[in-house]
Amino acid sequence: MQWALAQAREAGSAGEVPVGAVVVRDGKVIASGRNAPVAAHDPTAHAEIVVLRAAAQVLGNYRLDGCVLYVTLEPCAMCSGAMLHARLARVVFGATDPKTGAAGSVVNLFDQPQLNHQTQVTGGVLAQECSATLQEFFQAKRLRQQQEKRAQHLLRDDALRTPDSCFVDLPGYPWEPHYVSNLPALAGLRMHYLDVGPSSASTTYLCLHGNPAWSYLYRSMIPVFVADGHRVVAPDLIGFGRSDKPKKDSTHGFLWHRQVLLEFVEALDLRSIVLVVQDWGGLLGLTLPMERPDRYAGLLVMNTTLSTGDAPLSPGFVAWSQMCAKNPEFDIARLMARGNPHLSAAECAAYMAPFPDGGHRAATRAFPSMVAQHPDAPGAAVSRQAREFWQTSWKGRTLMAIGMQDPVLGTGVMESLRQNLRGCPPPLYLAHAGHFVQEHGAAIARQAVVHFAA
Ligand SMILES: [Zn+2]
Repeated sequence: MQWALAQAREAGSAGEVPVGAVVVRDGKVIASGRNAPVAAHDPTAHAEIVVLRAAAQVLGNYRLDGCVLYVTLEPCAMCSGAMLHARLARVVFGATDPKTGAAGSVVNLFDQPQLNHQTQVTGGVLAQECSATLQEFFQAKRLRQQQEKRAQHLLRDDALRTPDSCFVDLPGYPWEPHYVSNLPALAGLRMHYLDVGPSSASTTYLCLHGNPAWSYLYRSMIPVFVADGHRVVAPDLIGFGRSDKPKKDSTHGFLWHRQVLLEFVEALDLRSIVLVVQDWGGLLGLTLPMERPDRYAGLLVMNTTLSTGDAPLSPGFVAWSQMCAKNPEFDIARLMARGNPHLSAAECAAYMAPFPDGGHRAATRAFPSMVAQHPDAPGAAVSRQAREFWQTSWKGRTLMAIGMQDPVLGTGVMESLRQNLRGCPPPLYLAHAGHFVQEHGAAIARQAVVHFAA
């Protein structure tokens, strides 16, 4: 049986179900065989059939009188029949097979008095070892399948994925997509991110977008950072850009998105980060560095705020929030065109690319009401902790850029945020930039690389 087990292990290494067999006569092994149906494209290539054929060749006789066949698994009906035809004296098997065993488990072909030849049968020899070999094989196979499933980032039933065809040839956005789905908080959702520039770079610009934008927003800043030798990592928040889009609005929550970002930074092991934030990129992103201050070296902050829930929301924000509630599927391309007259129609349309229909818009519907309106709202407490961190503990360099044409998170909001940022020098004022400051971002990025290099 040990010989048969060795054959079984060989079958397992070859990707076959690990079953092995030997035929013994006069105390000598005269033939061995292992399971091979997959490689041989042969449904009959069970270990027993293989070894019966080999033994018959050795003996020059299809009758194997006086032979004993050892096999690691209870034979099936086909193999049992073949053994009877071969006039085998005896079969000894290891593990039982409750699904197809024909030596007692499902049927017992060795106990049919009408048959003209009787083969003796003994089961359970080294049964534990034989069945462990099978179990290990199937366990490893399941694990492999799970890993393959993860590697393919299979789409969850409760989410949508914008087709790749929506992202073909977008102006000024030539970068390869990167994906991650194995963060615990993602639970299999696929998150997209850009990862441009050398991974060995001394500084990583981590660029976080807001609602309803995506990493496309950073397309004029990325080349400036990369040309200066830096790495740029720009994720699309779940529900935006090329990331998966949960179908339900209620999937989105402040603390969940924050947790995803925390895990993302850990998973990529980003260090010497210059955090680049605007809009929700800041509401979420400004709460990250206090968890791992050692990872962050700088902050480039554009029109955003902290969702602390202890101050009234600006009239501009309230108006925006009401507009979103009234027109939950408002035209994003038109919004971009209105605030950024220098953009081409194709660039404005690119902001709409992630959302081929209303089904994909759960995030843009959910985000406005996720801003804390009272001190107990989700994320408010953590945002107040973050405010404290930026006031008293932040040791990195800071640069602030303000788009002055922003009715939602413009100069007033930013001036008060600046009061909370320890060591924040006078901001860059961009007279023509609106809410989406990054659309004037090349000039900001050029100042940033100098500022953060100093
Ligand atoms: Zn069989």
